[in-house]
Amino acid sequence: MRGLMMDRPLLIGALIQYAAEYHGDTEIVSRTTEGPIHRYSYVDAERRARQLAKALKRLGVERGDRVATIAWNTHRHFELYFAVSGMGAVCHTINPRLFGEQLRYIVNHAEDKLLFLDLTFVPIAEKMAAEWPGLRHYVIMTDRAQMPETSLPGALCYEDLVGGESSEFVWPEFDENTASSLCYTSGTTGNPKGALYTHRSTLLHSFAVCSANAVGISMRDSILPVVPMFHVNAWGIPYAAAMSGAKLVFPGPKLDGASLHELFTSEKVTLSCGVPTVWLGLLQYLDQTGKRLDGLTRVTVGGSAAPRAMIEAFEERYGVQCIHGWGMTEMSPVGTLALPKAKHLDRPMAEQLAIKARQGFPLFGIDMKVVAPDGRVLPHDGKSSGELYVRGPWIIGAYYDDEEATAAAFDAEGWFRTGDVCVIDPDGYMIIVDRSKDVIKSGGEWISSIDLENAAMGHPEVAEAAVIGLPHPKWDERPLLIVVPKAGHQPSKESITAFLGDKIARWQLPDDVVFVAELPHGGTGKVLKTRLREQFRDYRLPTI
Ligand code: AMP
Repeated sequence: MRGLMMDRPLLIGALIQYAAEYHGDTEIVSRTTEGPIHRYSYVDAERRARQLAKALKRLGVERGDRVATIAWNTHRHFELYFAVSGMGAVCHTINPRLFGEQLRYIVNHAEDKLLFLDLTFVPIAEKMAAEWPGLRHYVIMTDRAQMPETSLPGALCYEDLVGGESSEFVWPEFDENTASSLCYTSGTTGNPKGALYTHRSTLLHSFAVCSANAVGISMRDSILPVVPMFHVNAWGIPYAAAMSGAKLVFPGPKLDGASLHELFTSEKVTLSCGVPTVWLGLLQYLDQTGKRLDGLTRVTVGGSAAPRAMIEAFEERYGVQCIHGWGMTEMSPVGTLALPKAKHLDRPMAEQLAIKARQGFPLFGIDMKVVAPDGRVLPHDGKSSGELYVRGPWIIGAYYDDEEATAAAFDAEGWFRTGDVCVIDPDGYMIIVDRSKDVIKSGGEWISSIDLENAAMGHPEVAEAAVIGLPHPKWDERPLLIVVPKAGHQPSKESITAFLGDKIARWQLPDDVVFVAELPHGGTGKVLKTRLREQFRDYRLPTI
């Protein structure tokens, strides 16, 4: 028997319409690429998104066409999210930190028709233009006065486009499974792979992210997404904010501690989201200046493992709840979040911190299974580690136009293979042990590079740490710890090994510690282990 409820599609256009209608005077504040702070409201943003949708039509964009962006987090990028998807086209956000070859590949593979770009990225586009023959128009996201001299063929001005249209446009209705946005993963090997989201997956993900078991977003929040809008749709924050009528504060190109702190204070930010490297920068700035984080109630951290010391600093020193989460581009991206359960709240602080340092339990909608190398499904006992497989309504069912990558990514039952090694404890909390290719295989046992890095980053003189496995004739592989000292400090090898001594099992301790000025980071803030492995390829461990 079929139920008798309305079959109304879940559409991105409806999000911005709702925000304009019921939270119309709520502000959207941006630090612009040009410098000054820009402020307007959801009513203004929705009206301009309609004007932009009309301009896109005039430029020949049709349903299903891909419209690319290379842009910072600003109000204009926000308008593009809603105008492009809302009219039924696909918003393809491009990470400007990709290598030239990757940029060439993804624009051509996606068959982008238009490219919207911030002033900062004009030089990148000029360099690449000859390799992007399919692009029909370049639109520079600025006003007429700031339009640069450029070799980009027929470059258009964003404000002219928007200003030249009336707002007589009605958000169309169509199937909720229509493609809405496209984001390529920046894998370290092979070509980037495209995750093609739908309106339905985006809205379901937003409902989940807003729920109290997740980030608990409401119309009383002022949210500053540090995570870029070119990194998995800023973890879905622009959509979740519109859904809940939260104020948005966009940081533009300035992501340093001082600039973020200024906006946190002036815009009374309550929630902010970013990768660990961004928070390391902010915490160092606070340490150096003695400033506080008044008003901020919570930060979320993900993309790489949050060191326990970071969670402790936010919670204990600054009174800000630090919510650690895990996800992937292929998962829209949020899969798990590490909030304590009621029964944990009277446990000692150290125990609570250990819970918060886990990657977390799944949002409703995400199924997880842990699989041993021989294909056995492992119990959630907190001990059995294996590869994590997931499925759910906001997880990709295939890569965009890539049969080879798709064939390798799913098992016979259609579960998506994450490439992460994890354990799940009896309470349902998932703990990432490592990327399957980063785990160190020593004498038939596994050593988690993440555990070692995390422990090392608790050392008071360590700013950042990374661990890689180096070949060893007896043990197969042994860990090398690579450390970036905090500014003005010179920790010794011995002090670091002694510090790790009571935190890590003896056989898992690194065979050596080396010091470097900085670690190589990829486009989404992750430490590039492949680069480190190349850099230290000829390094000889003292234990050989
Ligand atoms: P991306 O698709 O670029 O967001 O990368 C996804 C990958 O980042 C995951 O498969 C994990 O390996 C890693 N990752 C994301 N969040 C975390 C986390 N909280 N802890 C450890 N690794 C993480």
